[in-house]
Amino acid sequence: MPRSFLLVILPRGTPFPSPAKLTGMDYQGRQCRAQSLLAPLRLQTLLVTHPPNIRYLCGFTGSSATLLLNARQCLFFSDGRYTEQARAEVQGARVVIAPKAPLTMAAEWLHGHSRGRNRKPATVVGIEGDHLTLREHDRLRKMLRPGFRLRMTASPVEQARMVKDSDEIEQMRRSAALGARLFARALEVIRPGVAEAEVAAEMELTARRSGVEGMSFPTIIASGKRSALPHGRASNAVIEPGGFVVCDFGVILTGYCSDMTRTVYVGRPSAEARRVYDAVRQAQLAALEMAKPGATTGEVDRAARNVLKKEGLGRYFTHSTGHGVGLEIHEAPRVADGEKTVLCPGMVITVEPGVYIPGKWGVRIEDTVVITEQGCEVLAPTGKELVAV
Ligand code: ZN
Ligand code: ZN
Repeated sequence: MPRSFLLVILPRGTPFPSPAKLTGMDYQGRQCRAQSLLAPLRLQTLLVTHPPNIRYLCGFTGSSATLLLNARQCLFFSDGRYTEQARAEVQGARVVIAPKAPLTMAAEWLHGHSRGRNRKPATVVGIEGDHLTLREHDRLRKMLRPGFRLRMTASPVEQARMVKDSDEIEQMRRSAALGARLFARALEVIRPGVAEAEVAAEMELTARRSGVEGMSFPTIIASGKRSALPHGRASNAVIEPGGFVVCDFGVILTGYCSDMTRTVYVGRPSAEARRVYDAVRQAQLAALEMAKPGATTGEVDRAARNVLKKEGLGRYFTHSTGHGVGLEIHEAPRVADGEKTVLCPGMVITVEPGVYIPGKWGVRIEDTVVITEQGCEVLAPTGKELVAV
């Protein structure tokens, strides 16, 4: 082991309480499951660098660390900025702190613990191809030569994260309930003459006062013609009478994101506005009906799309029906046309069809659901009749 390598090794388990610990997450169980996925992928070691994956495996909430997993061990590397935080948060892994890049520390550890430089066959080290930069990959490749082979892999941790355990579902339920309360605030504020940004600000202030870690994403308040922009972040545009306002918002509570959309009408909706709104609502209900164990995420997408096609609105539904959500706002699985992922109990996805008619208006309705044994449960059941303000 290179001399400069080890500065501090913290003991397993510390007396300091932290929010991550108080939730009682089963980090050791998750590490064991991730370790059991290495052999089927023909990996001897996995280097986990994506912060949400690290948080999932050991509870660390900081932004700079590397977790090294092999069949027997779980090692956590970070730098001096995180000494105290690692002591308080990391569970089930041996913590190593040194004044250098965590990935470099992991590579040095691998070298120090390899049995002979020209050992054959080479140790296969999995890296998270979706998250490592080219520069990091190059550096790692140079540092680990010879004796090691890097293999880019779709992270098995992200596969594992698709199915939430009961602790996670409980956290997501709390996050969804808090997120849903923001819509009540939006309804109090949305009026002609009020800027979209003001509505978002009031919602975010309510969220902050309720103790969230942050928003899942920049709040979307898109009014009038802007409601036809599926990602219309709240702007300085002033809400005018006679149009839809799409409100898409979410909070992060103990790490878990909520995600919900409701669309309201300012003034008295015309028959056409009601027809479009109702088509989206029917499409959303059809997709919720399809969201059950054994169905593919592609079938959920199809269920929503078919309803809108029948109403002659298919070409205005320009995005996929949903996405997985959890520690990240967008995570596996994709809920899109042709997707083959089979739903199973514990998966959490959004169901959010929409219709966007350029230059005119847009409508989206979104719920986050957990797949149950029989079907699915909306995490924060809230009315979705057309509300006019
Ligand atoms: Zn959303
Ligand atoms: Zn969403």
